[in-house]
Amino acid sequence: MIAHLFNRVEAAVYFVTPGKRSKWGHTFGGLPSHRGTVLPVGPPLHLFFTLNLTDPRVGLRLPRRKWLPFFYPFRNIHGEFAYRVVSDGRVEVLSKPYSAAYLADESEWFHWPGFPRGCRRRSAGLEKKQDYDVHDPEDVYWLGCIFGVAALSASEKEAAKERLENWYRESFESEMNSFDSLDELAAESSGFLVQGLPRSKCPNRKCRNHKRPGSMEVVLTIIADEGDSFAAEIGDTGQLIYEVCRICGSVFVHNQCT
Ligand SMILES: [Zn+2]
Repeated sequence: MIAHLFNRVEAAVYFVTPGKRSKWGHTFGGLPSHRGTVLPVGPPLHLFFTLNLTDPRVGLRLPRRKWLPFFYPFRNIHGEFAYRVVSDGRVEVLSKPYSAAYLADESEWFHWPGFPRGCRRRSAGLEKKQDYDVHDPEDVYWLGCIFGVAALSASEKEAAKERLENWYRESFESEMNSFDSLDELAAESSGFLVQGLPRSKCPNRKCRNHKRPGSMEVVLTIIADEGDSFAAEIGDTGQLIYEVCRICGSVFVHNQCT
């Protein structure tokens, strides 16, 4: 598994690796301990990471919450999943990943043999992969959709767009799709996110970000390796993308593939 964490304060990317020691108490796996994670129907939510938000390397703080758990319900109906971290002890699930009819339908590909149980709980470590340099065309291509290009002036953006198009031509021996501006290019070119930036609105109806598409921030992505017990659930080309609302602590998970 490869998990990338995006720190917006530092504009930096970190690897989050199960099994690495951490003085911050970050963990991978284990069974969910938050109240609210037992669904009316269906298997338990799968818990990937629980990250300590007081570690500055995470780059995200939520009022009154120290821990941010990253859940996903495998083989759910919609692919997308939403929940809110209400406190360090409670989660509110905001979507319905399973229905009784879906679980009962034996013609569905959903059935229990091979269903991955929770992963063994162990520590998880953060290790910096790279800083984001808005002046580097390669960085803008891969990470501009996450960190943006707002640090550049209008004239710098024009020059950067041309540099990026040249870099793309030399690197991939083909032309980039045409974009009117560097802002558009950075957001729409797929880059690091397999289908581009999700631009979700907050799934919590009571949050003022609920009517604001693009108000969520991509915090973590997970890609499975062959050896992972859940590899078949995410797929060879799949990517779990976690967006977080800084106002209310809601999390929106996308399961995208190329
Ligand atoms: Zn919200």
